[in-house]
Amino acid sequence: MGKPTGFLEYPRHDRGYAPVEERIKHYREFVIPLPEEELRLQGARCMDCGIPFCHGGCPVNNLIPDWNDLVWKGRWEEAIERLHGTNNFPDFTGRICPAPCQEACTLNLEDEPVTIKTIECAIVDRAWEEGWIRPQPPARRSGKRVAIVGSGPAGLACAQQLARAGHEVTVFEKQDRIGGLLRYGIPDFKMEKWHIDRRIEQMEAEGVTFRTNTHVGVNLPARQLLDEFDALVLAGGSEQPRDLPVEGRELDGIHFAMDFLRQQNRRVAGDTIPEEEAILATGRHVVVIGGGDTGSDCIGTSNRQGAASVTQLEILPKPPEKEDKDLTWPDWPNKLRTSTSHEEGCTRYWSVSTKRFIGENGRVTGVELVKVDWKKDENGRWVMEEIPDSGFTLKADLVLLAMGFVHPVHEGLLEELGVALDERGNVRGPTEGPNAYRTSIDRVFAAGDMRRGQSLVVWAIREGRQCAKAVDEYLMGETVLPC
Ligand SMILES: Cc1cc2nc3c(=O)[nH]c(=O)nc-3n(C[C@H](O)[C@H](O)[C@H](O)COP(=O)(O)OP(=O)(O)OC[C@H]3O[C@@H](n4cnc5c(N)ncnc54)[C@H](O)[C@@H]3O)c2cc1C
Ligand code: SF4
Repeated sequence: MGKPTGFLEYPRHDRGYAPVEERIKHYREFVIPLPEEELRLQGARCMDCGIPFCHGGCPVNNLIPDWNDLVWKGRWEEAIERLHGTNNFPDFTGRICPAPCQEACTLNLEDEPVTIKTIECAIVDRAWEEGWIRPQPPARRSGKRVAIVGSGPAGLACAQQLARAGHEVTVFEKQDRIGGLLRYGIPDFKMEKWHIDRRIEQMEAEGVTFRTNTHVGVNLPARQLLDEFDALVLAGGSEQPRDLPVEGRELDGIHFAMDFLRQQNRRVAGDTIPEEEAILATGRHVVVIGGGDTGSDCIGTSNRQGAASVTQLEILPKPPEKEDKDLTWPDWPNKLRTSTSHEEGCTRYWSVSTKRFIGENGRVTGVELVKVDWKKDENGRWVMEEIPDSGFTLKADLVLLAMGFVHPVHEGLLEELGVALDERGNVRGPTEGPNAYRTSIDRVFAAGDMRRGQSLVVWAIREGRQCAKAVDEYLMGETVLPC
């Protein structure tokens, strides 16, 4: 274990951030890493619990106490080996994971969890700097060919595992760059995109082929992939955004969050967005509808673009400032979360519902809202009621709809293949048993948000890895791949 008395001796320290007034002037990452000596002490705080709840809380089951101990002892190269044993891309999760492991950490009972995410990020960053991360091409080729649709974290993790198992893997992506939401959803100030580029280089050296601008089911028939490949993996994400079909929805200036965020990531990548298509918050009163991660990313981007004001609306009640540990630990708690983007400037409303959009000359000028109350009905279900005479209006000349995603896009790929869907409209496929990750169509597998619905990067990595194991077993009759 770290140091038996470490958690008693060393206070918790975590990474800091550049000051708000400085960081909103650019789109780069602004986290300030801890120095090596401090990282070692933070690793020493780990108690190597008999039941490491962090390990269960982590969707990829990272061997957290092992690498905490290795960092405390300064054995960084072994630490990256242990970390890569369960996670292909700790450089992504070390930056953008909400870190359910830390909520589950035993020391979180005292609100002082081990700084697991910071240690993870430091291990992988150091490993890149030292040149310890190299391509791992397979010793033998299997002669089997696998097509993967979608290059988000699920598709990438699946492709890397299958290539290392010796299969010839091709990833098809409809966008012009690889990475899925890592590339065109998550802003650069949360994760700069060169982290993806160097992983792509590594994977190409391991034998993965990437084909961009290829929209399977639209400009390349999915059936052709079934003819040319031994197995097909669907990792196309959950891309159908939830709409808000109230009066005035057709007005100019109301956009889905992803259309706004994708444009900004393109600008940062050096692309030019034609003026007539540009969605910009500059000088505008921005209203973001939806209180989750996507909404938070819209706030950070709007402030960097120079918005006149930013307001975020959430239909659910304001969560408690602090969770009830007795009820929730070690599970994910419902508590008020204030992101770095919130800290950069934004007014937040909870328990409000949008009645209609108001406009002039075809463009949105305001949002009419009503306050709502949430009560349990006789069956114990939460129901929403409008509070009489509580209506009010907010000025708005840019509205961003960030209310999540209902399911994957059905038109094109999924309809052409005719795969069965579950009751939520996601691709049906179990995660366990002999049919793990298999869809209703022979030789077709599914992983990530396309199978589980909108989720997290770390879950996409887990599904990509497990799906690769299932595909390998299907192709070879046995598998050597880890989970
Ligand atoms: C704005 C935003 C911010 C987020 N922030 C975080 C965060 O901070 N931390 C976190 O853990 N999670 C975050 N998430 C969630 C996370 O990004 C997703 O859960 C994760 O990326 C899902 O991975 P995936 O590989 O399943 O799908 P995606 O990342 O969605 O990738 C799917 C890819 O498939 C491609 N594709 C789809 N259909 C086709 C087709 N027919 N042919 C070819 N290509 C196709 C798409 O273009 C896309 O590139 C965020 C999500 C959003 C929208
Ligand atoms: S739960 Fe926390 S203290 Fe216990 S092993 Fe995991 S990281 Fe270490």
